[in-house]
Amino acid sequence: MLANSLIELDRAHLVHPVASYRGHEAMGVRVLKSAKGATVTDDTGHSLLDGFAGLWCVNAGYGQDSIVEAAAKQLRELPYATGYFGLGSEPAIRLAARLAELAPGDLNHIYFTLGGSDAVDSTIRFIRYYNHAKGTPQKDQFISVEYGYHGSSTAGSGLTALSVFHAGFGVPYDWQHKIPSHYSYRNPVGSDPRAIIEASVAALRAKISEVGADRVAAFYVEPIQGSGGVLVPPAGWLKAMRAVCKEHDVLFVVDEVITGFGRTGPLFACEDDAVVPDLMTTAKGLTSGYVPMGAVFISDHVYDTIADGAGEALVGHGYTYSAHPVSAAVALECLRLYEEGLLDNGRKAGKRLMEGLRSLADHPLVGDVRGRGMLAAVELVTDKERKTRLPPEADPARRIFDRAWQNGLVIRAFANGVLGYAPPLCCTDEDIDGIIERTRMTLDQTL
Ligand code: PLP
Repeated sequence: MLANSLIELDRAHLVHPVASYRGHEAMGVRVLKSAKGATVTDDTGHSLLDGFAGLWCVNAGYGQDSIVEAAAKQLRELPYATGYFGLGSEPAIRLAARLAELAPGDLNHIYFTLGGSDAVDSTIRFIRYYNHAKGTPQKDQFISVEYGYHGSSTAGSGLTALSVFHAGFGVPYDWQHKIPSHYSYRNPVGSDPRAIIEASVAALRAKISEVGADRVAAFYVEPIQGSGGVLVPPAGWLKAMRAVCKEHDVLFVVDEVITGFGRTGPLFACEDDAVVPDLMTTAKGLTSGYVPMGAVFISDHVYDTIADGAGEALVGHGYTYSAHPVSAAVALECLRLYEEGLLDNGRKAGKRLMEGLRSLADHPLVGDVRGRGMLAAVELVTDKERKTRLPPEADPARRIFDRAWQNGLVIRAFANGVLGYAPPLCCTDEDIDGIIERTRMTLDQTL
């Protein structure tokens, strides 16, 4: 009764993110009710292993009492403080300082947002301001990578390179350019890591020269492309792209919204390649999804150029909820949990996850298994030799998702037949084994 009325209310009033509105109205919503560890339960009492940590964000896992307590304490003490008028709050200041300490290199200045999209959007504004302050305002062109996802804000959605975020929205803009992805399973240069890196380096150089090095402001990358299908570049790719940017005085922006906070093993994935970006965006695992928050990490030279350029003038970029004290208190507790065991557990569980997923390679539908740490994908094909994608009528995003759901597993089933995995870092061995077992069961039913 309750569920039915909720379905009706949802159908009539709640606009869902990235959904087929009419398709969703016809299907009706599934309502989640409670969660603990890596398990979520819906309002019919059906329990599922959450192999996707919500939306690759609940890194700490569900039901962490100390996070709830940190939020409750802050809500009682000081539920809100603005950062305007020179004001601030203790958790926000401590969090900024801690993040600067943990970040690679000289990313010492932290600007807080509400999530990833506005973090990316903020970098665009900061970079434009930086170039005005530097006396190079003509550097106003931005490059990103095909299959990349950088949120769905008005400007950031044009750096995103997935057509569903473009069609009908009038993006990308003419100042936004793309180079091909490193996608090793389907790369025209083959799967040899050296060839892939060389091709990407050549593509970035060519794009910079086509647009003009004096015009290109920045290049955006994800250390692992998430929403494009968990595309993992070869080791050394990030470093090679960083070097090209340096050569051409192009800012290097690493988008760690998914990969940050232990998702791939270290706190930030760019540490794997020993790369220090000029700017870095994060969100999701920063607060493990308990409350919204994102953060832009800004290097000394970018921050100082903006600050010196502005002098006494206001830098007119800000949100009411930037550096929200409750989000900051939650993030500080998440960081404590990561450092006191969750990162280690995630690395251990990540190994088991990758081994388990690789054991599925013998399945007739599995074309590719890829990933790093607790971020992985299985790409399904109907013909392994030809790498033929599932036909549209297979409708993986709906049908495989539904089957997995019935089998007690939440995964991301992309429309092109890629299955995405990003379980909470708190997963036990049994959780990981359950994810693998239920995936195999789902694949067997898909044959
Ligand atoms: N950047 C990347 C790499 C992402 O994966 C996402 C979201 O998945 C975003 C930006 C946007 O973040 P949000 O959904 O919090 O706005």
